[in-house]
Amino acid sequence: MYNTILVPTDGSDAAEDAARHAMELASAFDATVHALYVVDNRYAWADSGAIPVLLETLEETGKEATDSIKELGERNGVTVTTTVEHGSPPRQILDHAAEHGIDLIVMGSHGRTGLERTLIGSVTEKTVRSSSTPVLVVKRSDNAVYTV
Ligand code: ATP
Ligand code: MN
Repeated sequence: MYNTILVPTDGSDAAEDAARHAMELASAFDATVHALYVVDNRYAWADSGAIPVLLETLEETGKEATDSIKELGERNGVTVTTTVEHGSPPRQILDHAAEHGIDLIVMGSHGRTGLERTLIGSVTEKTVRSSSTPVLVVKRSDNAVYTV
C-alpha cells in the first residue's frame, strides 16, 4: 500500500519527529522514503544584494535537513533519497508527490517559524488542503493537548 513515502522537512524538531514515524512505516511496508526541502524563494524577487547569500544559506539548511533524514534511514535500514528544490514549499511538495508516485506524505504539524499555539503551520495546512495523496500530520508530544 505504501511504497514511496514523502517526508518534507524544514530541519525542525517537528519534521524530525515526523521522519521517525515515516521510518517506522517504511520498515513495516518495505517502502522508500523521499526527503524534500524547499528553498522558499517566493520573496527572491526583492531588489536586494542579500538575496543570493540568503538562498545559499537556505540551500545549506536544506542539505543538512535532508542528509539528517538519510542518516536516520541508514540507522533503520530504509533507503532515503534527498532533494532540495526551489519554489513555494506547499506547491513543490504537491508537485513532488504527483511526479514521483508518492503514496503517503508524512510531515510535522509545526516547523521552524510558526507559533506553537497555532493548531497547524501554513505549509502543512496548504498541503493537507490541496493534496490528493493521504497526509499523516505528526504533532509533537509536548504540543498535543488542546481544549476542545
Ligand atoms: P509557518 O511557516 O506557517 O509560520 P511553521 O513553520 O510552524 O509555521 P510549517 O512551515 O507549516 O509550520 O511546517 C510544518 C511542516 O511542514 C514541517 O514540520 C515540515 O514537515 C514541513 N515544511 C515546512 N517548511 C518546509 C520547507 N521549506 N520544505 C519542506 N518542508 C517544509
Ligand atoms: Mn514554516
